[in-house]
Amino acid sequence: MTDVIAIKVPGTNFTYLHRCGPDSVLVVDPGNAPLVLEALRTHHLALKAILVTHHHWDHVGGAADLQRKTRCELIGAGATLIPAPDRTVADGDVLEVGAVTIRVVATPGHTQNSVCYYVPARPGVPGVVYTGDTLFVGGCGRLLECDAPTLWQSLQKLAALPEETLVYCGHDYALENYEFATTIAPDHRRFRERLAEIQKTIEYDRLTVPSTIEQEKATNIFLQADHPQIRAALGLPEARPEEVFAELRSRKDLFG
Ligand SMILES: [Zn+2]
Repeated sequence: MTDVIAIKVPGTNFTYLHRCGPDSVLVVDPGNAPLVLEALRTHHLALKAILVTHHHWDHVGGAADLQRKTRCELIGAGATLIPAPDRTVADGDVLEVGAVTIRVVATPGHTQNSVCYYVPARPGVPGVVYTGDTLFVGGCGRLLECDAPTLWQSLQKLAALPEETLVYCGHDYALENYEFATTIAPDHRRFRERLAEIQKTIEYDRLTVPSTIEQEKATNIFLQADHPQIRAALGLPEARPEEVFAELRSRKDLFG
């Protein structure tokens, strides 16, 4: 297996297993414990730790059950997490879980305590970032606890990661995100190409993850709030990037 096993949860969520030893993994955002336990059994893997990106139930709902059944460690940010984490993390923290080194990137916006987990590349293996509900394939999270400039700054931190980094996000919203992008900017060639690619991916019953940081910078409309073509498409030729981003985010809220 590769380092990552993606689990599609019924609905739109993704949960991920990341190898951290010959027979062990950590899990990211286990909303559903039975699905994780089944994947562990199927692949003969032990669970070392649970990493949670933010406190929403569809990301953390399975954590208590997994903790009880496997006695693994729960890692996350902030006091709003239920159950409370064994290890609380903050921006820039470096975690060692088994053989894996993970850097914590604080990304407030969707929630105040949202964090992403970045596993740097090693020879022959690209880096990985788990982006929760901050960055999606072709999109970004809703502003539930913060303002648009805060999320825009957080997205810039992710965009600054190495371009080949694989992006594993918390929900499968790729199709609607590219439908939205092509509605806003119908002439944007890369958006149209990516929409067709995503439609084919879904048609062939493949997962829409991972993306890469390079791919997101080139085709995620929310990361292009500083591009003249997007400013023009919104009728905001003079607006600052965070204003363009705020406008995009509120139009997406109405789009679905
Ligand atoms: Zn959420």
